[in-house]
Amino acid sequence: MRVLITNIGELVTNDPALGEGPLGIVRDAAIVVGDRVEWIGAASAAPAADERLDALGAAALPGFVDSHSHLVFAGDRAAEFAARMSGEPYTGGGIRTTVAATRAATDDQLRANVARLVGEALRQGTTTIEIKSGYGLSTADEARSLRIAAEFSDEVTYLGAHVKPADGPPDYVSLVNGEMLAACAPYARWVDVFCERGAFDVEESRSVLKAGIAAGLRPRIHANQLTMGGGVQLAVELDCASADHCTHLSDADVDALADSDTVATLLPGAEFSTRSPYPDARRLLDAGATVALATDCNPGSSYTSSMPFCIAVAVRDMKMSPSEAVWAATAGGARALRRPDLGQLSVGAAADLQLLDAPSHLHLAYRPAVPLTRLVVRKGTVVSRQRDEQWPDHSLSVGAGPLLNASSKLELPHKGVPK
Ligand SMILES: [Zn+2]
Repeated sequence: MRVLITNIGELVTNDPALGEGPLGIVRDAAIVVGDRVEWIGAASAAPAADERLDALGAAALPGFVDSHSHLVFAGDRAAEFAARMSGEPYTGGGIRTTVAATRAATDDQLRANVARLVGEALRQGTTTIEIKSGYGLSTADEARSLRIAAEFSDEVTYLGAHVKPADGPPDYVSLVNGEMLAACAPYARWVDVFCERGAFDVEESRSVLKAGIAAGLRPRIHANQLTMGGGVQLAVELDCASADHCTHLSDADVDALADSDTVATLLPGAEFSTRSPYPDARRLLDAGATVALATDCNPGSSYTSSMPFCIAVAVRDMKMSPSEAVWAATAGGARALRRPDLGQLSVGAAADLQLLDAPSHLHLAYRPAVPLTRLVVRKGTVVSRQRDEQWPDHSLSVGAGPLLNASSKLELPHKGVPK
């Protein structure tokens, strides 16, 4: 079925060839979508389609691409958050609390929690969400986490090297690179490591990523979150798609990112929730690095699924312009996942987009914490409608549930390995 969305006051395409500025903005626009974007142009020139939706002059933009989340977990760490807000520093040790709760949970409990969070993200405009393991930390629990993550997303990341478990073998890295990797690789597209003091050092991180690459996974890394370690340099050395956090960077780190294809993914929810200094997005952008924004959604250090929240913080406290932040949350995330079909609206791209209850994408930062996403389309199907009391009724029905993988069935499109 082809759907025409017309009377779009401001359409952000992220394709400069299609419109104004780096966001490729088309005014008084229309878009025709099937599975993919089929047509974009002036509303007055729009072709007919099977269904028609009048945006009533509102803004539309690509769905958010959240390239960093940890959704497979059980338990709640609100008390830890409250204690931290009362003055205790964050050291990362709380991960083990979530590991214990995750191991104790049933598959259905974990699955229900992922579904809840993916649905929450979807209603806020997120049409792609990367999901990591990392709260199992045993072969069986990591493989289980990834199997469940793959039910919801194509962008699944093996993070057996999240933290060294208290009950793990002395040479935990060998487990991560051996039996655990073999059990996990069939369910994952990516391999990741928490390269940080107290987690995995640069040598260990290099060995984890190289083992993952040898098993057919693509590398990404948690780098330079708490200290100015060697994570970013390792990311560039191994052509990681993304170096995530990038909070403490040397000039050499900034230059290395600017001269590479590695995206600097900034996760302001983590600094917000640990009351830490934010990464310097301006410095990265001015140097020519590619910047993405993501939520880092996890129960310990950043329990938000909201990309608009990250945009607002990035604009307010990281010196990004509203347009830069919106680009980073859409096209930037797509680059961090090396998915050129996502994060932009041009003919042939994925038909993943959102309609705001606002006249401009600027409102995403200008109106912080207001749920502006009114309607979300994924693969050409309306998957979420909000704030409908303010809009006339349309015939379009809401399809599919909170599944953000390629098919709405429980399949593993990358490798086709049975569950
Ligand atoms: Zn993370």
